[in-house]
Amino acid sequence: MTADVMPGEVDCLVLGGGITGAGVARDAAMRGLRTVLVDSHDFASGTSHLTSKLIHGGLRYLEHCHFRLVAEGIIERDRLLNRMASNLVSPLRFVIPFEGNRFPKWLLTVCGLQLYGLSEWLRSGRRSRPLLAANLRKQYPALRPHPFGVDFWDAQTNDARLVMATIRTACAAGAVAHNYTNVTELARVGNGWTVRLRREVDHHEWNIRAGVIINATGPWSPMTAERLGAEAQDLLWVKGSHLLLRRPPEFGDDAVVIQSVRDRRALWIIPWETRLIIGSTESLYRGDLRDVRPDAEEVDDLFDSFSRYFARLDFTRGDILGAYAGVRPIVSQNGETENSLSRRHAILADADRRLITITGGKLTTFRKMAEQAVDCTERLLARPPPARQVRKRLRKELLWPGLSRPDVDELVGALEKSRGRSVPSPTVIPHLVRHYGSQTSTILDAIVAEPLLGETLYAGLPYCLAELGYLCETEKVWRLLDLLKRRTPLYFLADRGSLDGLSQVVEHVAPILNWSEARQAEEMAAVVEEFRADTQAFADHRDLQAEVPTLAAFA
Ligand SMILES: Cc1cc2nc3c(=O)[nH]c(=O)nc-3n(C[C@H](O)[C@H](O)[C@H](O)COP(=O)(O)OP(=O)(O)OC[C@H]3O[C@@H](n4cnc5c(N)ncnc54)[C@H](O)[C@@H]3O)c2cc1C
Repeated sequence: MTADVMPGEVDCLVLGGGITGAGVARDAAMRGLRTVLVDSHDFASGTSHLTSKLIHGGLRYLEHCHFRLVAEGIIERDRLLNRMASNLVSPLRFVIPFEGNRFPKWLLTVCGLQLYGLSEWLRSGRRSRPLLAANLRKQYPALRPHPFGVDFWDAQTNDARLVMATIRTACAAGAVAHNYTNVTELARVGNGWTVRLRREVDHHEWNIRAGVIINATGPWSPMTAERLGAEAQDLLWVKGSHLLLRRPPEFGDDAVVIQSVRDRRALWIIPWETRLIIGSTESLYRGDLRDVRPDAEEVDDLFDSFSRYFARLDFTRGDILGAYAGVRPIVSQNGETENSLSRRHAILADADRRLITITGGKLTTFRKMAEQAVDCTERLLARPPPARQVRKRLRKELLWPGLSRPDVDELVGALEKSRGRSVPSPTVIPHLVRHYGSQTSTILDAIVAEPLLGETLYAGLPYCLAELGYLCETEKVWRLLDLLKRRTPLYFLADRGSLDGLSQVVEHVAPILNWSEARQAEEMAAVVEEFRADTQAFADHRDLQAEVPTLAAFA
């Protein structure tokens, strides 16, 4: 992904480097289409790094009878979990506690969950089970007592890494991907488009010809369609907010489904690395898509709902460590409320304009969405559909770095034996192998040459400077926030938005990224500013603003 190359002529130009565009670029490149993907900002900088991090069938859509959608989600979940990305997607157990007066509903849910979990049950033996008060008390000591509950299995991922792994897979198959790159001029010519692209961060410009343009710009897709002179799809923006709390050991490793105190909607409490994620709210949104933040009302709803179930943990609002919000692009349907709106996706093919727009859907179903969008692309390009073996490969082949779960274990074992003594923390090698596969050796070489680069940066997290340096060299990092929010999730997982280790990080990456002193200060200021803005909604509960250091603190 490092070179500045850009082919002069391509079959498809994909606009948008979230999970949808990444999936489309992977599918197209693996079918042999000449593919370029550009994102006008950073890869995954839209909704795709602000999700609940679940790879799931979508249990709550069953309430609204979206059976097909759930079935599709389950198939894609199993595919990612057990085959395509088992290094990045892990099983997650959920428990739903029930109140005393909801016995029939509980029994119905127990029966429904047997069907929901059938495929995982048959494959791995993990199955949904009813739980009575004593089991609940024993297994979830922090949860307030409930007479019964039920568990089920879904899966969890690191959303932004899933996007990067998909983009890297596309590039390994011949695609070219550039972030911070905008379409500045375009015209319809003959069988396609001529397009001028400009990378805003270094003013690099390219002219290309594209057979088809694929608009995969998520919530931005109506504006993109308009820019391309096409009819904009009717899309609703639904905002979802999450809170981040410290993950106490008493909480355990399972996620818990609770009800919102405000409107009884289902909310998740999800353990994720060092944090509990509580989310998500749902409300229609009309603001700036680059500045989506939780508001105080949402913070109250999430925190009060959490406290109602987990008062024993004794958290106060002052314990809120972070909050984030994203916007779902939802294909609008008459008469539905924001809670019941379907997460189905829609593909619009405009043969005259040689333009395809793909929107809606979920992180979980990106592969399926991409398959359908690229089928449409091939039809517009008058190419025959792919051979059966190609289609089979597309449905199964591992995402970059191409490791199955047993491969990960084997490589971790081999590297720990041969290089383990040069790495100070035992968590580093397994973490690196899961994310970068055989490229881990490159990172370990840097640690052998300079052992300090292998020290972990933040307590309880396996990230070290050698990894950050590798990411700057290989994954088109232009801004410090790209590195801290998307190539890694340090901003969300380290205390105070990773501000504490900031100068050390910048000192290490500045020579790699060619940053002057002024640029270093500018990048750090941007992280401080982001943290200040993100904490607005709950800062009045705690003197957080006073805690945000000024830039002078980094001097
Ligand atoms: C709160 C919340 C929680 C969610 N949780 C889950 C979950 O747990 N599991 C799940 O399966 N799904 C989840 N989803 C749904 C899922 O996150 C989205 O469906 C998915 O991320 C949308 O991806 P996308 O690529 O279509 O859009 P985005 O991720 O928003 O990507 C669009 C990209 O287009 C770029 N762009 C914009 N304009 C242009 C342009 N003119 N040219 C080039 N690029 C452009 C943007 O910079 C951006 O990177 C959640 C959604 C929300 C809001």
